[in-house]
Amino acid sequence: MEREGRDVRQLPKAHLHLHFTGSMRPTTLLELADKYGVRLPEALTGAEPPKLRATDERGWFRFQRLYDAARSCLREPEDIQRLVREAAEEDIADGSGWLEIQVDPTSYAPRLGGLIPALEIILDAVDSASRETGLGMRVLVAANRMKHPLDARTLARLAVRYADRGIVGFGLSNDERRGMARDFDRAFAIAREGGLLSAPHGGELTGPSSVRDCLDDLEAHRIGHGVRAAEDPRLLRRLAESGVTCEVCPASNVALGVYEKPADVPLRTLFDAGVPMALGADDPLLFGSRLAAQYELVRRHHGFTDAELGELARQSIRGSAAPEEVKEKLLGGVEDWLAA
Ligand SMILES: [Zn+2]
Repeated sequence: MEREGRDVRQLPKAHLHLHFTGSMRPTTLLELADKYGVRLPEALTGAEPPKLRATDERGWFRFQRLYDAARSCLREPEDIQRLVREAAEEDIADGSGWLEIQVDPTSYAPRLGGLIPALEIILDAVDSASRETGLGMRVLVAANRMKHPLDARTLARLAVRYADRGIVGFGLSNDERRGMARDFDRAFAIAREGGLLSAPHGGELTGPSSVRDCLDDLEAHRIGHGVRAAEDPRLLRRLAESGVTCEVCPASNVALGVYEKPADVPLRTLFDAGVPMALGADDPLLFGSRLAAQYELVRRHHGFTDAELGELARQSIRGSAAPEEVKEKLLGGVEDWLAA
């Protein structure tokens, strides 16, 4: 008889959806706020994660305001180094064998001496955290869809120029209700031509059409979230057939009110349709749970067996930009976990 209930923290996996400031430990945020005399909004200082409802624009704005407040506590290169090292440590504790962290360097530029110095500080921090902890780490540079598409092009060029310093992909984040994916097609073409993965957000705050736009206009290799593809069976088939991995973040979906409760996140629908998924924590600082907790959630609320959790871990590894030998090692680790 198969033994169920293995420790998901021991299950090797890849983490493909984690935002930079959002990865911060809550205790670190409090210490940094203290260091700089920043008065944090109460929602960020409580024992419980804030109650958010981002399904309307006001709620999303509130979420962004909290994110901005947290980001304003990252002011010096040593803060960036600490953030990245701790994100790596947390990931390792949760069984991650590969982490792709997502950042829009533009929003750190004013405090770190400009766009290029900010990006270099971030890339250096990722490189040293990776060497210190042994965790394979890479960076996705994400453009902000609230800003002008020309800004996204500038970022894409910069990301391509720094590709050999650890950048593997190009993303697009913020409110899906603003602008069209198509407005950013040139930026994504630059990124793809430069060898980067196209990994925009879609299908979170808006429905299946936003996922289709990511595929059609941005030639997405992966979709940030993508869960709302579940509302369209033909789109699910398309994602499954083309092997586009959806970076599904169930705790985030519930925290932001995309779904009412964990059981409502259509994980079974995507899984049964054969859509590859990579579970992610999105912004653990704001949503109160990290990587392993997503696997726990899927087990508890969707009845995934250990074999199915193992398959989810494989999908996250295969969907990553990790070198082949890293993938093979992690995939071997999944088999060991299942055999244990
Ligand atoms: Zn995200």
